[in-house]
Amino acid sequence: MNNWTAHEAEYASLLEKMQGIASKNGLVLNPDKERIEKVLGLMTENLVATGKPYCPCKQSHPLDPSKDKTCTCPEWKEEIAADGHCFCRLFYAGEGS
Ligand code: SF4
Repeated sequence: MNNWTAHEAEYASLLEKMQGIASKNGLVLNPDKERIEKVLGLMTENLVATGKPYCPCKQSHPLDPSKDKTCTCPEWKEEIAADGHCFCRLFYAGEGS
């Protein structure tokens, strides 16, 4: 049950994909489960609406596919290096990094 999306299967699939991306890059997802549910729940809504995982923290309102960014965004690694996490606080630097 997610407060941000009713598309549970798509949410589960997106969560699995993001966990894979984190793991492949030596990162972790935010330990705050509510934050993950919000970011990925809203991203799931964008995915279902457009077919692409637009970042809910960086998008226009309404969404503008011509300029909004999909996850992972081009600057995520720079943000994590500078702040320890991406702008959305979805991906965090892993232990030891
Ligand atoms: S800020 Fe984080 S959640 Fe948003 S697109 Fe970039 S990597 Fe993905």
